[in-house]
Amino acid sequence: MKVYKFGGASIKDAASVRNLLPIVNNFDENLIIVISAMGKITDALVDLAENWFYDNEKIDIIEEKLLEIKKFHFEITNELIIDKNNPIFKTNENVFTFIFSKMMSMPSLDFDFEYDQIVPYGEILSSGIVSAFFNQEGVVNRWVDIGSCLKTESYFRDAHVDWELTDKLCHKVLNFEREQIYVTQGFIGSTVRNLRTTLGREGSDFTGAILAYVLDAECLTIWKDVEGVFNADPKYFSSPKKLPAISYHEAIELAYYGANVIHPKTLKPLQNKNIPLFVKTFLNPSAEGTVIKNFDSILKLVPIYIFKRNQILVSISPKNFSFIVEENISKIFSKLAELRISANLMQNSAISFSICADFDKVKFDTFINSLKNDFIVKYNTDLELITIRHYTKEAIESQINDKTVYIQQKSRNTARFVVK
Ligand code: ASP
Ligand code: MG
Repeated sequence: MKVYKFGGASIKDAASVRNLLPIVNNFDENLIIVISAMGKITDALVDLAENWFYDNEKIDIIEEKLLEIKKFHFEITNELIIDKNNPIFKTNENVFTFIFSKMMSMPSLDFDFEYDQIVPYGEILSSGIVSAFFNQEGVVNRWVDIGSCLKTESYFRDAHVDWELTDKLCHKVLNFEREQIYVTQGFIGSTVRNLRTTLGREGSDFTGAILAYVLDAECLTIWKDVEGVFNADPKYFSSPKKLPAISYHEAIELAYYGANVIHPKTLKPLQNKNIPLFVKTFLNPSAEGTVIKNFDSILKLVPIYIFKRNQILVSISPKNFSFIVEENISKIFSKLAELRISANLMQNSAISFSICADFDKVKFDTFINSLKNDFIVKYNTDLELITIRHYTKEAIESQINDKTVYIQQKSRNTARFVVK
């Protein structure tokens, strides 16, 4: 059994959905297809949920936004589905009737809960349309509401998986007794009381990994618009090289340093059961892509570059000239935790502690103000954090030469620089 995941970009319009056919046509193994919302629909639904929750009097604006989302889905469905009596039209209509009546009622006081009762419909709609289209084209499949088997705690918007229950229910629901292909949703789950939950933005990769894990899949393939994992983001780099193979460990490190490759939570379940992850492109399905798995020997890798823009570097020193030791550090860290600031890099000397993080004005104003009584706080913004895995002298020179370096850290495999 295999698991395929198709992201939003692979189903952003009718032509894109049609282009997936060669990937699933004549597939003669058991397959689970995990689908994200189409294009940027999740953003649109988040926006809708926010408007309703925070500004529910502006019903005409809400209605307009909802109608736009509806129109988008119906245009695609119309283009793809020949038989206008196909039940998918009615199913979609019901989804919009439901959301619309929700928009007419007052929200509860819990935004995260309300978000999870609206945003998952992006995936419900997209998976329904793709499933109906595949069936029409002879790729026989059954649509499954993942809420019937992927169970989570009642913690909304960032729900944790109930692995034991999910394992049990997935074996029951996705049993391949009568079908060979299931089409289902990424990103979403549900509680034991069947309230919808979400796994965190971009969580569909993770869904693929959860299903691969509990059902002991042979592999998970994530189909993207890029041909695999590259040694640098093509947006910032003129001639990036594709990495044919990397280890789970390397992929986890890359995700940690901020490479926008795969959702970080995806890797652990796969690694635990040694299930290979393929990253391939739907634009050229026969191209080799990247495989992420365990390797007996250490792979020799080219330098890999990860850039994080818009960084702030804050340097904190105690006013009373005490050393930076546990007590001071714990004060600083409890503030960071409270504000949910995660440090991308930290460094300390005897009398000062520095952290580099993604810049967020509101959070850092609060953070800096809260420390001002006990500490002297200085900061620089508009910096860049450059991480080079498997660095060489030349790799470092090529990136750092013309820049002012504020901090540098080197370990055996990784060199990091905060630069202007
Ligand atoms: N549709 C969801 C999002 O955009 C999940 C995903 O794409 O992985 O966050
Ligand atoms: Mg998406």
